[in-house]
Amino acid sequence: MDTKENYVIEILKTHNAILEGHFLLSSGLHSDKYIQCALVLQYPEIAERIAELLFEEIRNNFSMWEDINLVISPALGGIIIGQEVARVIGRNNNKKIRAIFTERTDDGKMTLRRGFDITYSDNILIVEDVVTTGRSTQEVIDVVKERNGNILALSSIINRTENENDLNFKYPYFYLMKLKINNYDPKICPLCKQGIKLVKPGSRKNF
Ligand SMILES: [Zn+2]
Repeated sequence: MDTKENYVIEILKTHNAILEGHFLLSSGLHSDKYIQCALVLQYPEIAERIAELLFEEIRNNFSMWEDINLVISPALGGIIIGQEVARVIGRNNNKKIRAIFTERTDDGKMTLRRGFDITYSDNILIVEDVVTTGRSTQEVIDVVKERNGNILALSSIINRTENENDLNFKYPYFYLMKLKINNYDPKICPLCKQGIKLVKPGSRKNF
């Protein structure tokens, strides 16, 4: 593990942000662990530090980073880190960078609200906290494409996909930490078979 990865894993552990049990993910899959990034991002100085590390990862590997003028994240998980990454890019580029977010309508469709807009002149970095199946990433891509925005790259603090190639995105993808977590199809979930109570993160007190 490199130092960035170590920093993220240590900070997650310190704040009890890696939970063990039986979780229903927003993707519909079941999992034996759950990452609650909000527990570290609730501290602005940590959120800023993580954003700086993610920015360094992007800058060191992606020469077009200077073209980025818009950061977009899916609500709610991506909002804080998206805002901080936009701030860091702007500071390093002496440019005004916008940070906006997508959210779901009542019928579950991902969209832009609050008067946010995207145009053909926007060069976009997608920022998320955790990418699992890439479903929300794809939904953000769709929102951007419908508005003719230009996606340059994807990024997240944590990559917890089973297999990156499954994502099937044609954009470069940058992250700080790859985390191997077992995801299960509910039909064949061993935790269900053991009768362990399924928890939907966010739906329980203290969660
Ligand atoms: Zn299960």
